[in-house]
Amino acid sequence: MADEQPSQLANYECGVKKNLVIISEKAESESEEDETFSDVTLIRNGQDPNGCCFDPVERIAHGFKHFLSNKFYKYPCLFNELAESQHPKFLVFACSDSRVSPSHILNFQPGEAFMARNIGNLIPIFDTLKYSGVGSIIEYAVEELKVENILVIGHSRCGGVKRLMSYPEDGSPRFDFIDDWVNIAQVAKDKVKAEHSDLSFEEQCEICAEEAVNLSLKNLHSYPFVKKGVEEKKIALRGGYYDFVNGSFKLWELE
Ligand SMILES: [Zn+2]
Repeated sequence: MADEQPSQLANYECGVKKNLVIISEKAESESEEDETFSDVTLIRNGQDPNGCCFDPVERIAHGFKHFLSNKFYKYPCLFNELAESQHPKFLVFACSDSRVSPSHILNFQPGEAFMARNIGNLIPIFDTLKYSGVGSIIEYAVEELKVENILVIGHSRCGGVKRLMSYPEDGSPRFDFIDDWVNIAQVAKDKVKAEHSDLSFEEQCEICAEEAVNLSLKNLHSYPFVKKGVEEKKIALRGGYYDFVNGSFKLWELE
């Protein structure tokens, strides 16, 4: 296949790079202007603290300056260590939902958690021909980083779970990618529909979100390197559920 490389390279075009912002020096506002959480919230809601229009470049620059001031320059020993290597204790799967970042809800700091986020925080069954993005994350975390804990976190009002539970019965158009993906948890849907037919759709979705976590934990055992680590008691698998309506978090293991 080596003779194909020159033609692929010849056809490779990705446009001219235009820098928008470069932040590499210590933030001037380090001590006096420690950004408050309310300022950040305002910006994320589409306004900056001065009431002007949302500026995505400014938002990114503001965020990185905040990180420099509050983390990078504040903990030089940690970041010097992390520059050499990483030894996270956790591999964490969470949903892509903007409200459920594990770094926020569980306060994971740089270097603590190797992380994967996708629609519905799903882990497919082992298959070397499909979903290599997920498989490679698990393989690297277990085989190279030697993580000791794998945590799968579901959450309330999950759009991925809602889609799983409603399609195709609702007659809506099919999504090119989403429907195949959430169907990984089809068996969780079937179980909830069979056992909780008396509950409302919303209640079924909340139960399915936890059931889908259990399915992902079960699917983890189909990865040979995970199964081996669990059998040798070097890896613990746990499920979690973050309810952002009530502000609660559940953690469990499957026996
Ligand atoms: Zn979700």
